Amino acid sequence: MDLNSEFDRETYNHLWKLAKTQQNETGIMTIDEFEYWERFPQNFSDPWFKTLCHEYRHLRKEELPNGVEFGITYKSVSINPQTYLKYLLNIFTLMGGTTQRAELSHLNECIKNETDIVINCSGVHSRTLKEKTDNKSVLTYVIPHDEEEVILGGTYEENNYSTDVDYDAAARIIQRCLAICPDLLPKDQAQLTIKGYGVGLRPCRKGGVRVDAEWITSEKISKKILIGHNYGHGGAGFESSYGAANHLIKVMKGMLNDL
Ligand SMILES: Cc1cc2nc3c(=O)[nH]c(=O)nc-3n(C[C@H](O)[C@H](O)[C@H](O)COP(=O)(O)OP(=O)(O)OC[C@H]3O[C@@H](n4cnc5c(N)ncnc54)[C@H](O)[C@@H]3O)c2cc1C
Repeated sequence: MDLNSEFDRETYNHLWKLAKTQQNETGIMTIDEFEYWERFPQNFSDPWFKTLCHEYRHLRKEELPNGVEFGITYKSVSINPQTYLKYLLNIFTLMGGTTQRAELSHLNECIKNETDIVINCSGVHSRTLKEKTDNKSVLTYVIPHDEEEVILGGTYEENNYSTDVDYDAAARIIQRCLAICPDLLPKDQAQLTIKGYGVGLRPCRKGGVRVDAEWITSEKISKKILIGHNYGHGGAGFESSYGAANHLIKVMKGMLNDL
């Protein structure tokens, strides 16, 4: 199994546990996930997570929506990022962590005399720290959230960093989602009730995820600093998070032990 799948495996198990034990606090809930193919895929082989995700199976013909030739289903989780990120920040502060807002043009700018370790999780803005990012087209998804909300998406556009709402793209997303999931529209309604529009950027990176560490000698304070890198998670940063973070910690501990 490749490293990214290992990250996802560890994370799935952890998120599943959180959903089962702390749903309200974390904003994570278990869901039935469905993936559809408009055309029957040639030489389909089951994904690596077939043995990980609970109740993985191929959909029966009568379960497929119109215009869909093949599909799979399995148990997954849905995360409400607002609730979940608050939960994470709360844990961080309870453990003694503090936060500070600053805009950096180089990693060196966060190095002070007392700094021994820096962890670079610069995600979507890693390009501003001299890293290159790369985005790729259209994808359609319907994700149930808590509080009876459903997220509809999406787009996948290379090098588009605009966070302005594109209402034409939004109308096309709604059309595509209704085509695969007509039950979204209550029988007594002609249109969906839209609670809000959101735009997000997936922090992709040429070459894929970077989870590694390096020693640098800071000119500012003439000592060696261990820099951990954990970014470029693209459209999968939540689902790989615990696995990637634990891997980085292992790598960094190994480098510190070798000193
Ligand atoms: C529409 C959409 C749907 C998605 N769906 C999923 C999904 O189903 N499953 C999934 O796992 N993931 C999904 N993702 C991807 C997920 O949101 C990202 O992978 C994840 O947020 C990446 O987290 P990160 O912390 O690595 O990076 P980011 O969220 O980009 O965070 C990086 C942080 O570093 C800060 N920063 C960067 N550079 C600087 C600088 N120079 N100075 C100061 N601060 C800086 C930024 O301000 C930011 O706060 C989706 C994303 C989008 C947009």
